[in-house]
Amino acid sequence: MNKCVAIIGAGIAGLTAAQKLYENGFNDITIYEALDRIGGRIHTIPFDNGVLELGAQWLHGQHGNPLYHLAKERDLISNPNIDFGIEGTGIFCTDSGDLLNNTDINKVIEFLNRIKDQISDHSLETNQLMSAQQVFRDNFEKYIKTQECPPLDTDLLWSLFNWYIKFEVIDNSCNDLNDISLLSYTQYDECDGIDLINLKNGYKTIIDSLVNEFPKNVINLRHCVKRIEICNKNNKQNMDTFFGFILPKNKINIIKTLGFGTINKIYLYFDKPFWSSDDNGFQFVWTKHSNHSLPDWVYDITGFDLVRGQPNVLVGWIGGNGAIQMEKVPNCQMIGDICFRVLKQFLPNMTIERPSKVICSKWWSNEYVCGAYSNRSLNYQKLNLDIESLSEPIVCETKYSNLSNRYIDYPLILFGGEATDRQFYSTTHGAMRSGLREAQRLIEFYNKLNVLDISKL
Ligand SMILES: Cc1cc2nc3c(=O)[nH]c(=O)nc-3n(C[C@H](O)[C@H](O)[C@H](O)COP(=O)(O)OP(=O)(O)OC[C@H]3O[C@@H](n4cnc5c(N)ncnc54)[C@H](O)[C@@H]3O)c2cc1C
Repeated sequence: MNKCVAIIGAGIAGLTAAQKLYENGFNDITIYEALDRIGGRIHTIPFDNGVLELGAQWLHGQHGNPLYHLAKERDLISNPNIDFGIEGTGIFCTDSGDLLNNTDINKVIEFLNRIKDQISDHSLETNQLMSAQQVFRDNFEKYIKTQECPPLDTDLLWSLFNWYIKFEVIDNSCNDLNDISLLSYTQYDECDGIDLINLKNGYKTIIDSLVNEFPKNVINLRHCVKRIEICNKNNKQNMDTFFGFILPKNKINIIKTLGFGTINKIYLYFDKPFWSSDDNGFQFVWTKHSNHSLPDWVYDITGFDLVRGQPNVLVGWIGGNGAIQMEKVPNCQMIGDICFRVLKQFLPNMTIERPSKVICSKWWSNEYVCGAYSNRSLNYQKLNLDIESLSEPIVCETKYSNLSNRYIDYPLILFGGEATDRQFYSTTHGAMRSGLREAQRLIEFYNKLNVLDISKL
């Protein structure tokens, strides 16, 4: 039987699968990639003697993270004990220009992080069908009435709560934390070890090192697959969709209910940095949502962090609907000018000049990606669906021997990508695992076929 494999997408899942198959003697592989570059949601660009990451930023965790092991083996990572990522920390300030007391802020954030940990390890008694936002809210309501809560004004406490929720919206890549199930926290596993690990010279180095292991002509850039059809008279045709046949109901339900939202990054380059190298960043606690004459999307920016290896650059993270609205602004410089006004409002006592260069990611408008990464929505949890059904292959009964009338289920279409990984969805290592899983499925199938062929003799 011809071991011919077509892979759609040159993201980390597709490339890992290709590398593993190639290593196992599959020589007839073709990768179709719609974009004019490889990497998918890993997108490193050169900038000012260094790099910027428009997509994936860090490797998350060490133990049980196959991508970390691969990167370490190939000497691609920075020493995580001295060079690790930073996000959502630094100076907390309000839209009235007040700098907040970090001890108080940390207490509140520690409390909310504790709630998050308790959701994750199932130690919080709660209705499992409540949204994540509701659980945070209910517990925060109780907390602010206790002695444990720092003596801050109640409105300010809720503003801080809203900052935390926006941070979670970004972390979960969703539109609204009210749509997110507790499963997002209980099913998702963190790999132990340091959580925000930097690549020495950017994420692209991982992609390049994978691609170096198989022939270059395997990858066809600017080749968008429009439809997959099965040439089998028994299959019902479904000509309106990407799949030219009827998908199993379970798969359709999962595809329809899994959440997939957008997050974006806004990089601002300042000729003269207005911060000190000891700072970590500036977090925006909005206390009023009106009379700012600013577009609505700015309220979904959690703040700006310093950027490793880029002393003149700050990065802003934006999620929710704001991440989509921001993409509709005609150009990045206009986005930068609006962020400049926001920074001046939050930090009136600092001398801030207009950023001279602005670079933004636009994941929602990328027609082959349409967002950032998957989450486990409340609707998905309510339907009690099993993610394994998403990665089950479409099989086709095929005669495996011309000498005898023997048939076998042939895995015709396989499903990979970050969303299909049960515990590590949303991450690059989840995507990598999915590529390995599907490659292994094919390897095992052909191994079995060889045994059957031999036993027939
Ligand atoms: C802003 C942002 C920050 C992130 N931060 C992190 C992080 O810090 N750490 C982490 O672990 N993860 C992070 N992620 C998530 C991570 O990038 C993804 O989970 C992972 O890269 C997904 O890999 P994939 O191979 O499953 O999919 P993709 O990378 O999306 O690859 C799929 C490929 O298929 C192509 N394609 C789609 N349709 C077609 C078609 N019809 N024909 C041909 N080609 C097609 C696409 O162009 C794409 O190249 C982040 C993502 C974003 C967007």
